[in-house]
Amino acid sequence: MKFHEMKEKDIEKVLNTDFSKGLTEKDAKARIKQHGFNELEEGEKQSALLLFFSQFKDFMVLVLLGAVLISGILGEYIDAVAIIAIVIINGLLGFYQERRAEKSLQALQELSAPQVTVLRSGEWIKIPSKELVAGDVIKFSSGDRIGADVRLIHSNSLEIEESALTGESLPVAKTTESLEEKELGIGDLENMAFMGTMVTRGSGIGVVVATGMKTAMGQIADLLQNAQSMITPLQRKLQQLGKILITVALLLTVLVVVVGVIQGHDVYTMFLAGVSLAVAAIPEGLPAIVTVALSLGVQRMIKKNAIVRKLPAVETLGCASVICSDKTGTMTQNKMTVTNLWSGGSTWKVDGVGYQPKGRFYRGDTDNPIDIKKEKALQQMLMFGMICNHASIKEIEESEFVVDGDPTEGALLVAAMKAGYNQASLAKQFEIVQEFPFDSARKMMSIVMKDSNGRQFVVTKGAPDVLVGRSESILWDGKRQLLSNNLKKEVHSAIDELASQALRTIAIGFKEISATTIILDEKEAEKGLTLIGLQGMIDPPRPEVRQAVKECKEAGIKTVMITGDHVITAKAIAKQLGILSKNNKVLDGNALSNMSVEELEDVVEDVTVFARVSPEHKLKIVKAFQNNGHVVAMTGDGVNDAPAIKTADIGVAMGITGTDVAKEASALVLVDDNFATIKDAIKEGRNIYENIRKFIRYLLASNVGEILVMLFAMLLALPLPLVPIQILWVNLVTDGLPAMALGLDQPEGDVMRRNPRSPKEGIFARGLGWKVVSRGFLIGLVTLIAFVIAHNSNPEHLEYAQTVAFSTLVLAQLIHVFDCRSERSIFARNPFENMYLVWAVISSVLLMFIVIYYPPLQPIFHTVPIIAKDWIMIFALAATPTFLLAGSFLARKRK
Ligand code: ATP
Repeated sequence: MKFHEMKEKDIEKVLNTDFSKGLTEKDAKARIKQHGFNELEEGEKQSALLLFFSQFKDFMVLVLLGAVLISGILGEYIDAVAIIAIVIINGLLGFYQERRAEKSLQALQELSAPQVTVLRSGEWIKIPSKELVAGDVIKFSSGDRIGADVRLIHSNSLEIEESALTGESLPVAKTTESLEEKELGIGDLENMAFMGTMVTRGSGIGVVVATGMKTAMGQIADLLQNAQSMITPLQRKLQQLGKILITVALLLTVLVVVVGVIQGHDVYTMFLAGVSLAVAAIPEGLPAIVTVALSLGVQRMIKKNAIVRKLPAVETLGCASVICSDKTGTMTQNKMTVTNLWSGGSTWKVDGVGYQPKGRFYRGDTDNPIDIKKEKALQQMLMFGMICNHASIKEIEESEFVVDGDPTEGALLVAAMKAGYNQASLAKQFEIVQEFPFDSARKMMSIVMKDSNGRQFVVTKGAPDVLVGRSESILWDGKRQLLSNNLKKEVHSAIDELASQALRTIAIGFKEISATTIILDEKEAEKGLTLIGLQGMIDPPRPEVRQAVKECKEAGIKTVMITGDHVITAKAIAKQLGILSKNNKVLDGNALSNMSVEELEDVVEDVTVFARVSPEHKLKIVKAFQNNGHVVAMTGDGVNDAPAIKTADIGVAMGITGTDVAKEASALVLVDDNFATIKDAIKEGRNIYENIRKFIRYLLASNVGEILVMLFAMLLALPLPLVPIQILWVNLVTDGLPAMALGLDQPEGDVMRRNPRSPKEGIFARGLGWKVVSRGFLIGLVTLIAFVIAHNSNPEHLEYAQTVAFSTLVLAQLIHVFDCRSERSIFARNPFENMYLVWAVISSVLLMFIVIYYPPLQPIFHTVPIIAKDWIMIFALAATPTFLLAGSFLARKRK
C-alpha cells in the first residue's frame, strides 16, 4: 500500500513514529546513520590536486617552463631550478587563493541553507532541512519550501505550488484524507507534499515519508543544476580586460625581445628575459585576488549580520541609490504592545511593558483603573482578538515573555490576557471550524467558530479602513446599530486619532451565521460584519535607524519606507525616523493602483513613504525607480514579495521573519531584519569595490613599470637592467603580498559621503587609467636612471647595476603601494591604519635584503651586496614617483 492510500494510524505504524510527539533526537540520529542525510547528490567537485595543476595551465607559464627546460639542457641549472621553484610557489599561492575563494563561497551557501520546523519529543524546533528523516513530523506555512516528501496529516487552507515537479504553476489545494486510487501522478496526490515545492497559502503538518534521493525531486536529477552565476560584473570586465592586457603585454614583450636582439643581445638571454617579463606583466592572478577580496568582504558583512547570497550583489551594493524598506520589523522593532482601544465612541488605555501579560485598563484620559467586567464591548473586542489569533505567548524565563508567531497577534493576546482571558480555556469554549489566514493583500484574517450552544460566528480582524468597508453595522453603547455615514465618520476620526500617535491599528468585527452554513471562501466570510472596535498598538522604531537613514542621505542614497500600515501611522513614524521631510510626499496603495508605471516615474522622486500598499505594488515601485535610472535595494519577507525582490537590483530578505521563498529570491539576507544592516552592507560593498580598485591600480602600475624599464633599456642599447629571475621575484613578492593586503584595507573616511558609483562605470574610471600609466611610467623611469647611474659608475660590473635597478624597482613599488590607498594622495591617509600592509611591505623589504645579502642566494638571483651610499640614491629615486605626484596634487589643491 502506498502512503497516499493509508490511514493515519497505519502510517504511524509503518514509519514507527508518533504524530503527537514526533521522533526523539536519538531515533532521528539513528535514522540518519542508516539512511543518510536528506540531501540531493551534487555533481563532481574539482579535486584539490586538479585545482593545483590548473594553476600551471596558463599559456605563458607553460612557455616559461619550456624555456627553463631549454636552459636546463644548456647547462644553466641554477637558473632552471630557481625559476621552477618560483613558478611552483606562485602556483601554490594561486591555489591557496582559489581554494579560499571556493571555500568561502561554499560557506555562504551553507549559511543560507533552508531550515524546517520539526516535532521532536513533543517540542517544535527548527533544524536544517538536511537533518530530516522519514517519520519526522514537520509543519509549514505560506512561504515555506517543503523540506522532504511528506504525507499530510493536518491542513488549513493549504495550497502548494508544485511547478518544480509538475510544470504547473497554479497552486494545488491540499487535503488530508486518504486517496483510494493506487496509481496517481504527482499533480493528483492531494494529500502529499513534495520536497522543493512551495507553500503559497495556509499552513499544514505532515509526516516525512521520503528524504534525499528517494524523494520525487531526487528522481529528476537534472532539475537540480540551478547553480547561479557567481561571477560579478567586475570580474567579467576584468576577464575582457585581461585579454587586452595579455595582448598588450605580449606585444611589448616581443618588442623588448626584438629590440634587444637587434641591439646585439644574445637571443637565448633575450628569450628567457622576454618570457619572464610576460609572466610577470600578465596579471593572471587578478581574477583570483578579486574573488578573495570579494569573499573577504562578504565575511566582514556576515559579522555585521548581512549574508550575501549572490556574489555580484557585493558590487551592486556599492551602486545602490535607493533603499526601499519595509517598516514593520525592519525600521521598527516589531515588538507590539496594545496601548489604546476604541469602541462605540469610548476610548481606553492599557498599561504594561512588552509582552508581559500584566497591566490595567483606564477609561479615556482618567488615571483610575476600571473594572473590566463592566465594559462589555471592550471585553468582547479583547476576547475576539484572542480567538481569531494564531500566536501564543511563552514565558522563557521569569517575567521574560516572547511571542511565538506574528507580533501583531501577540499584542492582541497580551491585551486580552491583561483583561483576564486565557487562550486555553477559550479554545475549550469555542470550536474553530474554519480559518481564512491573514494575507498582506487582503489585510484581514477570519475564523468561523461555534460556541457551546452550537451557534456559529465569523470573527474577522484586520486593517480598520478595510474592515469598515466590509461592515454593515456597529456596536454602539452596547447595541447594534446601522453603520450610517455619520457613524462611519466617527470611526474614521477614531482611526486617524490612533494612527496619528504612530500606532498600528487593528479592527475587530463579527457576524452570526446559521449553525449549518458552510462558508466557501473569505469573500463570503468577510462581508456584512458588525464592527466592535479598534485596538492601537505601538511598535517603537529601532533606535539605530534614524542615524542610518541620515548616513544614507549623506551617501546620496534615498530611503523609502513601504508599509501595509495606515497612511497616518506611516507618516508619524517616517517623521520620527527622518524619512519624511517637508518636500517629500506620501503615496497610498489606492493611488498606486490607479497609476501606471510611467505615471509613477514622474512623481516617484519626491515620494519617501508608501502606505497601505500590497506586496504587488512593490514591483511597480521598483520598476519606476529603475526606469528613472536608480539602482534599487528592496526588502521583503512574504511569498508575494518575491517578484519585487527578484526584480530589484539588490533583493533583500529578512532572516528572522522572511519566508524561504523571499530568501531564495534575494541577493542579501539580513540576519537581524534590521534596516541599519542594509546601510552597513552598502558601506562594505563600496569599500570592497574601492579596495579592488586599489590593487588593480597597484598591480597594473607595477607591471607597466617592469615592462617600461626593460623597453627603455633596449631602446637605448643598454644591457639588460633586470635578469629573468629578478623579474619573477618581483612578480611573486612585491606584486603578491602588498596587493593582498590592499584587499584588506579600511575604507577611506569619506566612502559614505560620496554619491553612489554608477553601475556603468568602467574599471579605469575616475582617473584610474591615468594613475596607472603615469605611476608606471615614472617607476620604470627611475629604475632606469638608477641602473644607468650605477652602470656608468662601474661599467665592468653589470650585476652591481642590476642589483641597484632591482632594489629601486622593488622600493618604488613598495612606496607606491601606500599611494594606492587613497583616491587623493599618499598624505591623505595614515600608513599605519592598515597593519597588514605595513607587515607585507616589511616582509617584502626583508626578502629583498635576503636576496641581496645572503651569499648562497646571490648567484641564484645575480645580486651583489650594495653599500649605504647606494641605498641613499636608491631610496631617493624610488620615492620620487609617489612624492612627485603627491606634490603636484597638493599644489593643484592649493590653487
Ligand atoms: P511592512 O512589513 O511592509 O511594514 P506591515 O507589516 O506594516 O508591512 P502588513 O503586515 O501587510 O503590513 O499589515 C497591514 C495591515 O494589516 C496592518 O496595518 C494591520 O491593520 C493589518 N494586520 C497586520 N497583521 C494582521 C493580522 N495578523 N491579522 C489581521 N490583520 C493584520
